[in-house]
Amino acid sequence: MKIETKAVHSGYKPEPTTHAVAVPVYQTTAYAFDNTQHGADLFDLKVLGNIYTRIMNPTNDVLEQRLADMEGGAAGLAVSSGQAATTYALLTIAEAGDNFVSMSTLYGGTYNLFAHTFPQIGIEARFADPDNLDGLPGLIDSRTKAVYCESIGNPAGNVLDLEKIADIAHAHGVPVIVDNTVPTPCLCRPFEWGCDIVVHSVTKYISGHGTIIGGAVIDSNKFDWVANKERFKRLNEPDVSYHGVVFTETGLPPYILRARVVPLRNIGAAMAPQNAFLALQGLETLPLRMERICDNTLTVAKHLKDHARVGWVRYAGLEDSPYKALLDKYTGGRASGILSFGIKGGVEAGQKFIDALQLITRLVNIGDAKSLACHPATTTHRQLSEQELAQSGVSTDLVRLSIGIENVEDVIEDIDQALSASS
Ligand SMILES: *Cc1c(COP(=O)(O)O)cnc(C)c1O
Repeated sequence: MKIETKAVHSGYKPEPTTHAVAVPVYQTTAYAFDNTQHGADLFDLKVLGNIYTRIMNPTNDVLEQRLADMEGGAAGLAVSSGQAATTYALLTIAEAGDNFVSMSTLYGGTYNLFAHTFPQIGIEARFADPDNLDGLPGLIDSRTKAVYCESIGNPAGNVLDLEKIADIAHAHGVPVIVDNTVPTPCLCRPFEWGCDIVVHSVTKYISGHGTIIGGAVIDSNKFDWVANKERFKRLNEPDVSYHGVVFTETGLPPYILRARVVPLRNIGAAMAPQNAFLALQGLETLPLRMERICDNTLTVAKHLKDHARVGWVRYAGLEDSPYKALLDKYTGGRASGILSFGIKGGVEAGQKFIDALQLITRLVNIGDAKSLACHPATTTHRQLSEQELAQSGVSTDLVRLSIGIENVEDVIEDIDQALSASS
């Protein structure tokens, strides 16, 4: 199936009991055991089945399979937020004393998680320059568990050289985790370029209507964890909480299995089945929305570029973007809906612009059907120092737009009147 078909059909056939055509919301906490032996076998992972909705749920299962299919992966795990997805993606393989390398251009929440929260539990994040990968090998050592990056950075809008990053990481025996929230699998599928694990904020384009918080981890199941038993000992050594099961010997994708039965089971940021249902509703139209969003955003970017009040426009879809060549390679030239620009007059003009918007909503979110605007330096990135801001690709005059699926003429009309008001 092609991706548009997968978005509507993967992971679900009308279920045999009721023949319900829409994916049912399995609003249940727990699942009945046939007898005590059945319960024991489930807890030992000897048979697979539903136990408790913190660990698995049939509605979430459809979302997991559908997303995995759309990414070209083998298995998925739905969790309660994008932040939980990133946290569990790393905690599945990293522990106190370990480190990982992250590209420095990150979503603000992810930067805080890496720079401030992981160090509290003894896991070090080392930051690399995504535009100069020469420094990457020197940051990897025997305790490095992964290389992490955003395929298209939010809000920087930079495009990463995924294939090159995967080559470097693999040469050092380390997997690559990609936050693919901004392009979505409709525009970019990191597994096709050798990357190993994908994380998503399902909150954004996938659910697509600004109605839920959700996240997902998808496993390509291509990385060879057994080839480096020492580095990935948690996947290769008997797990005490499962009667000595060795995840790489289960015959199941070991990484996503451990993500489910260790971090998710024990820390517990599970996705509510109602949210999985809403995510599935959104996912059905994701390919359609991404087409419109890419068209609209390119139109807005070109319009802003020619506008006298605008100092600069950053959108990888523009012909003169330094990322255009990478964009052509990794997404076929489509740059998704995040665009940033600087208004002449700096911070003050930027604030006036935001305050004058009438159709475009002032908020911190991306990936909605509605067009959205925010000023990262005073909101999502406000805890960052000036140096950290510069490293993240966020200048103080930067206004971020997330363009929606409206008629683009209405969006441009609102932008123009707000630009006039900013002078
Ligand atoms: C929003 C976002 C996240 C965090 O996701 P939540 O669902 O808000 O927890 C992570 N990465 C990117 C690129 C995001 O835009």
